[in-house]
Formats: sequence, C-alpha cells, structure tokens
Amino acid sequence: MQPVVLTRDQHGISRRQISENALKVLYRLNKAGFEAYLVGGGVRDLLLGRQPKDFDVSTNATPEQIKQLFSNCRLVGRRFRLAHVLFGRDVIEVATFRGHHHQVNTNKNVSSQSSEGMLLRDNVYGTIEEDAERRDFTVNALYYNIADFSVVGFANGIKDLEARRLELIGDPETRYREDPVRMIRAVRFSAKLGLTISPRTEAPIQELAPLLSDIPPARLFEETLKLFLAGHGLETYRQLQQYGLFAPLFPEAAEVMGKGNNRYGRFIELALTNTDERIAQDMRVTPAFLYAALLWGPVETRTQAFMNEGGLNHYDAFMLATDDVLGRQVKAVAIPRRFSSVVRDIWQLQDRLTKRNGKRPHRLLEHPKFRAGYDFLLLRAELDPRLKELAEWWTEFQVSNPVDRQTQHRQPQARGAQQGQANTASDAEPRKPRKRPRRRPRRKKDA
Ligand code: ATP
Ligand code: MG
Repeated sequence: MQPVVLTRDQHGISRRQISENALKVLYRLNKAGFEAYLVGGGVRDLLLGRQPKDFDVSTNATPEQIKQLFSNCRLVGRRFRLAHVLFGRDVIEVATFRGHHHQVNTNKNVSSQSSEGMLLRDNVYGTIEEDAERRDFTVNALYYNIADFSVVGFANGIKDLEARRLELIGDPETRYREDPVRMIRAVRFSAKLGLTISPRTEAPIQELAPLLSDIPPARLFEETLKLFLAGHGLETYRQLQQYGLFAPLFPEAAEVMGKGNNRYGRFIELALTNTDERIAQDMRVTPAFLYAALLWGPVETRTQAFMNEGGLNHYDAFMLATDDVLGRQVKAVAIPRRFSSVVRDIWQLQDRLTKRNGKRPHRLLEHPKFRAGYDFLLLRAELDPRLKELAEWWTEFQVSNPVDRQTQHRQPQARGAQQGQANTASDAEPRKPRKRPRRRPRRKKDA
C-alpha cells in the first residue's frame, strides 16, 4: 500500500488538540529511537475538526520495550499484547504494529475468535504498512507522525475522508466474515461522522448481517452502547434497520415490529430522539432506559399472550414476560445485571404508576428509579393518547409534592459516549427479592 503523506503545513492538526498524556507517550517513544504515531479514530476526528474521544498510539516498539520506557505501564491482552500507559484515570493505549497472520481458517463463516470475540489472528508484529492493512476502514488507517508532525494515510484514507466516504480496506465480504462487527461499525461511523458508505462496502451487508449472531453477547453489549449512546442514536437505528443489522441484535423487538406493529418502531425512535437530545445538552443518559424502550414491545406483546393463552392475571403474566424477554435478549446482546435490574424497575413502575389512591403515590415518589419510570411513562404517552391524563397527573403531583432528590439515587448514568464507567451509586443498591409468579402459563402445544 502506497502511503500519502501530508506534511505539517498541509493539514490542520495542531498539537494543542492532542491530549498532553498522549503527547508525552509519543515524545518519549520517539526520543528512545522508536517510531511513534497517533493512529485511527483520533487522527480521523482531528482531520474532521472534531474532538476525539480518545487517543491511541501505534509504534514499532514491542510491548516489553514500551514497558521499560514507562513506569506507569501495564501490559494487557493475552493474544495480542498491548501496553496501557496510565495517567490517573486517563489510559493511553499503545499498540505495536500488527503484522499479517498465516493462519488457516477452518470456519467458513467467521474467523477464529477467542471467547471475548477477539480475532485470534492478530498476534504477529509487523510494519506500519501491514498495520494499516488490517485496520477496518481507510479513514481509520491514518497516522500522525510525532517525528515530523506529518499525517500518513494508507489505502486512500485521506482522499476518502475528504470525500466523506466510508470505504472498507480490502475485499468487503472477506473483511466482514473475518469480523462481522465491522458491519455495525460501518453504520456507526456513517451516522456519527456523516460519512457515506461506499457502494462496494455497503453491498454485502444485507446478506452477511445474520453473522452477527456468532459474536459473543458481551462484545455486542459494548458495541450497542457505542451505537446508541454516542449522540446519533436515531440515525444509527434507522441505518441498522435499513441494512438488516437490527434484527440479529434485537431479534424479538424486530419480530414484534415485523408483525406490522409499527407503534413499537415509533416508540424506539422516540426514545432515541430523546436520548440524542439529552446527549446534545450534556445531560445524563442511561443504557437501562434505552434497553427498556427497545424491549418494551416484546414485553407488552408477551404479557398479552400469557394473559390470553396462559390465563394468567396481569401481574403474573407481566413478571413472566419480563423474565422471558430479558432471558432471550441476553443470548444476542448481553445486558449486565446492574442495567437489567433497572430495566425491570422501569417496566414495573409502569403498572405502579397507574395506582393513584391513598398513600401509594407518595411512596412511589421515593422509589429510587421513580424518575426513570416517570420519564418512560411520558414517552409512552406521546404515542398513546390514553396515557396523557395519567402522565400529566404525575407531572402535577411532583410539583405539589417536591422530594429532595439530592438525597436520592437517580438513574445510573453514562454521560454521552463514556458508557461503561457509569453507574456506581445505584449499582450498589441491594435488590429487593422479586415476587415470582406461582404458576407457569400453559402454552398451547403448537404455539
Ligand atoms: P471511536 O473511538 O471514535 O469510536 P475508533 O476508530 O477510534 O472510533 P476504536 O474502536 O477506538 O474506533 O478502534 C481504534 C482503531 O482500531 C480504529 O480506528 C481501527 O483502525 C482499528 N479497529 C478497531 N476495531 C477494528 C476491527 N473490528 N477491525 C479492524 N480494525 C479495527
Ligand atoms: Mg477510538
């Protein structure tokens, strides 16, 4: 691959835009005689005039050599070792150039993966050219060289970025089969950065979308957070639907919508619009709220089915439905318990919010997840006029009964795209044991 080099005066990246810690790492590697580059999304975002989420470094120093240079360094990864240089909570990831693998693939569908879904092939060190070739998109194969402040682009990455074009490196079908997650990364970058997926990069996606079900659910959890909580959730969702990528991630939600009930599709869009707006205003968002919305269709549908066909009362049917829906969902995309318990709370509150007599509403105000449950009700009311009156009643009830929210837990939070590290206070909350329905519903034999 022939690189294109933009010298210091041919691009707009200034060192002031790069984090101090990343610069420290780059300079020290360089001083010790190694090549050192800022790489990937960081360079791409800077060239687009955006503030990168994080800065990754690529070098020809081996992990051991990196470790010798930095006392605040720890090596991670079993297959491909990476160095993490720690500055308090800030972590700079330093990777040695990766080379090509020479492994014969025995699985026709997907490359070998470890249980974490990482490719097992990536365990050979290589040159910068080889490192660039195994990256996903051309716009991600950009390197900022600390030695002369130039930007080195491989595989036409600089031109593609100028044209706002998302282009996979190499043969698209092969690259998607190697790692199907690249299909959702394509949609994510397209939606987030306003890039157009090129025709050849887009062509195989519909057909290969089902390969996503081979990816370990835990890896997909991380990916879905990035999909929906990076500020462009609605656009991302629409593209996922368009390319057939939503169904393998949320099979039951897709099925419910497929049955012609587009109400739930609109509900999801509403929830995502809401989430995007909150992120734009730098307000808190929680993955739990989003999951509650994504899976609300299946929960309502199943509750109805358990009542009609199983003869259960509403409470039992509902409890069984939530177990069922979450149980199925986590086979596709994992939901850590600290989130799924809040998802259940939000759902359960929907019924409790209908009970307005006596002391009940006052007690409900004290519920740690009241706010999330109420917000969810507001969202439902936007689509269902029958809920308007109830939603307004709760709005007024809160005004006339202010609760000192300072002393209460709010929703577990992820701020914007920094998912994952969120959510400390509420995680620690002990869960009340849930009442389980006594009877299993009788299912129709052929249902
Ligand atoms: P952002 O961090 O803004 O979401 P990014 O491009 O930095 O975007 P990361 O997931 O942080 O994405 O990955 C860093 C770099 O590693 C990418 O730019 C890309 O070059 C490479 N990369 C990541 N995931 C893959 C993958 N599945 N296949 C090939 N290369 C990948
Ligand atoms: Mg990144």
